[in-house]
Amino acid sequence: MTFAPFAPSSTQVGDNLTGLLHPARRAAASGRRDGREGMDVTTQQCPICHAELPASERYPDHLCAECAARAVDTAGRPLTFSNVGFSGGFRAVFTDDGTDADRVSRDHIVIVDGIRCWADEHRFGGIVVRPAPES
Ligand SMILES: [Zn+2]
Repeated sequence: MTFAPFAPSSTQVGDNLTGLLHPARRAAASGRRDGREGMDVTTQQCPICHAELPASERYPDHLCAECAARAVDTAGRPLTFSNVGFSGGFRAVFTDDGTDADRVSRDHIVIVDGIRCWADEHRFGGIVVRPAPES
């Protein structure tokens, strides 16, 4: 009767040691705030007035509501934005007389404090205004 001598205890100790090392090293790495993973509640700045806003993953550069409300068309007429209907859709009207701002509804270009911006429907309804990409 012979016993087959496994050596389970020594390998288990080794596994435990490496298993302990890894979480510690990962915690140290994630302590640096340069990663993009994680769902931390952070803030972002309005690109016009630099007001602090809740961070938006999809719209990291959108204007705050106050700046968006100052949007005018390229001729300087104040604009109001709305969704076309339940299913969304972007629509701009002139604030002064409520008529459709057809060109803005079509090309989405508005001016806020002299800065070209892009107005469009928000993914979840409502309107989002962001600086227009340089063309
Ligand atoms: Zn702002």
